[in-house]
Amino acid sequence: MLSLNKIFNKLVRGKNGQNPQQAREPLIIPRSEHTISRKQISQHALKVLYTLKEGGYEAYLVGGCVRDLLLGYEPKDFDVATNASPEQVHSLFKRSQLIGRRFKLVHVRFGREVIEVATFRAPPEAKQHVDTQGRIMQDNVFGTLEQDAWRRDFTINALYYNIRDFSIIDYTGGMADLNAGLIRLIGDVETRYREDPVRMLRACRFLAKLGLKLDKETEQGIFDWAHLIRDIPPARLFDETLKLYLSGQAAMTHDLLCHYGLFEHLYPQTAALLHEEQDGYPRTMLMKALENTDIRISANKPVTPAFLFAAILWEPVRQRTVLLMTNGMPEIPAMQRASSEIIGEQIQRVAIPKRYSLVTRDIWTLQPRLLKRQGKRAFKTLLHPKFRAAYDFLALRADAGEPLAEPVEWWTKFQTETATQQQAMVDSLGNEASVKKPRRRRRRRPSAKKTEQN
Ligand code: ATP
Ligand code: MG
Repeated sequence: MLSLNKIFNKLVRGKNGQNPQQAREPLIIPRSEHTISRKQISQHALKVLYTLKEGGYEAYLVGGCVRDLLLGYEPKDFDVATNASPEQVHSLFKRSQLIGRRFKLVHVRFGREVIEVATFRAPPEAKQHVDTQGRIMQDNVFGTLEQDAWRRDFTINALYYNIRDFSIIDYTGGMADLNAGLIRLIGDVETRYREDPVRMLRACRFLAKLGLKLDKETEQGIFDWAHLIRDIPPARLFDETLKLYLSGQAAMTHDLLCHYGLFEHLYPQTAALLHEEQDGYPRTMLMKALENTDIRISANKPVTPAFLFAAILWEPVRQRTVLLMTNGMPEIPAMQRASSEIIGEQIQRVAIPKRYSLVTRDIWTLQPRLLKRQGKRAFKTLLHPKFRAAYDFLALRADAGEPLAEPVEWWTKFQTETATQQQAMVDSLGNEASVKKPRRRRRRRPSAKKTEQN
């Protein structure tokens, strides 16, 4: 049975959530009735808007920047929408670049800041679209401001700040939703999630970032269609993973992804083990990693995706290592094999570029090495280019409850000592400390140990 909202969308908004009636009457909020001031807008974005306007084109700020300004947040970046074609935009700005194949965008560069300028886009179905004069639109890809509004994901992301008179144009009810604190998908929920399932991930991201609520149908749709995420190419999901986990609200976003049944389609190997919480693994450990990531981001410290992947996939790697060791493989080769297998399976869903996965592997394979400190080993390990990340990871494991406090303290001290004191630290280790194993690890076979010590 169709819900009221669906009936409304089908009857009033029409197919694809468009409402032809509204073309003539969007809600226009004049400058005196909203809070966005030009002082809050990047100088470069203003320059782009004014140049377009002076070139005789329409120019608007749109998307996240308008939403964030209205909510009182500082926008991450500024996006511009215009009726100028990408080529026309390109010809107005010397330092601009045409991007994309299917739908071209223009990036206008000002030092490190990039302003993205997109030409109004028609919805995907409007193949034979004609405008109000009956003209067929230019190659059926570009559209009108109204079409551009209706093809966007959420109503709060479809508000346009008009540089002509500083008003805000609202076709989809975004202002009302913003005031009510609601994230609402534009149009028919099933259609819009099917069209692009990544919108479900975006919903979780905005939910964590903006402190708003999901509209009921928008929310129910995620439960219903979460599995569609599996149709998204792994490379795109990699980009989305970074946005989800490296935007400063990773812990909350992760909880939301799990709650809505999305995480299991992104990281199935980890998700399969999340229910087996034992001694703080894998959930506590992962949450601690994500909380640390959020703290680092809020302190403007660098974070590497490699560390994030190391944390997300650690439990599958650890369990696979144990399995291989049970079959007689020594610890380090077992961990190397497990790392390859788990990463190999993971990249079928979410791609992990080599430049990150190589570091992720180093972080893992250094874990057993950090526990073997006698002779020259500690000195060698300290020189490893990924020592610091591996040490941080060991500390994270200790923090999550593994009995690793002693080696963590030892390494914390070792890094800052003089060479003589370092040697003394190694000498005082004795043999016991070197064979102390982390929890749930099997003892290595004596023959394997011999080879290791060479
Ligand atoms: P952020 O603060 O993360 O940049 P944003 O809303 O600006 O949030 P972007 O990915 O920069 O997100 O996208 C800019 C705008 O493009 C969105 O606000 C939305 O209007 C539109 N958009 C982005 N992705 C989609 C999508 N998958 N489907 C429909 N519209 C989208
Ligand atoms: Mg944006």
